[in-house]
Amino acid sequence: TRLNNRAIDLIGAVADAIVENKEFLTSLDAAIGDADHGINMARGVEAVRAKVTAAPGADIGALLKTTGMTLISTVGGASGPLYGTAFMRAAGAAQGKTELDGETVKQMLAAAIQGIKDRGKAARGEKTMLDALEPAFDAFVESLEAQKPLVDCLEAATEAARQGVAFTKTIIATKGRASYLGERSLGHQDPGATSSTILLATITDFCR
Ligand code: ADP
Ligand code: MG
Ligand code: MG
Repeated sequence: TRLNNRAIDLIGAVADAIVENKEFLTSLDAAIGDADHGINMARGVEAVRAKVTAAPGADIGALLKTTGMTLISTVGGASGPLYGTAFMRAAGAAQGKTELDGETVKQMLAAAIQGIKDRGKAARGEKTMLDALEPAFDAFVESLEAQKPLVDCLEAATEAARQGVAFTKTIIATKGRASYLGERSLGHQDPGATSSTILLATITDFCR
């Protein structure tokens, strides 16, 4: 893809999408958390946007490393260190790259998900961002193995993430603040799974 030349534009698109969904994400967190997920994420992506515009990295790995470090230092809450770690790990998988192919994106997604698991000790089915990201990864790999173009793999991943978000409504949270609610977390979609899906959807649209 031509992602390398456009990486900063992509970060801008992701930032716009999160800011557009700031109130929505916060309202989801109001139902089962502390009503700050959209606020946290919007603060983080604005800081990332400012940082990468001022000092763009030499390659995609460097850009993602800046993104991860900035998210860790600005987002706060549970999601800041989790997303920050995810981007730092993805940066490792994209080190020195100025262009991305399907295999590299697969490695990046795998590394990001492992980072979230290492940091948050959650597994799929606990009503977290992993319930969007893990099905997305599986769908991505399935499409990649079927030799689909990268954009189709991303589209399949986004669709699986959307279904994952819907699934989070049907399960009880056992990690993060929402776990304090027990059964009362039922019927509500997870804010972090939702923001993950917005990230994937924006990347997909951008690559189309
Ligand atoms: P906080 O809960 O500290 O206010 P946010 O509201 O920004 O942080 O983020 C909440 C989101 O973080 C949840 O919706 C969930 O997706 C995610 N999350 C919380 N704990 C974990 C965990 N241990 N592993 C993975 N994701 C988690
Ligand atoms: Mg919160
Ligand atoms: Mg909070």
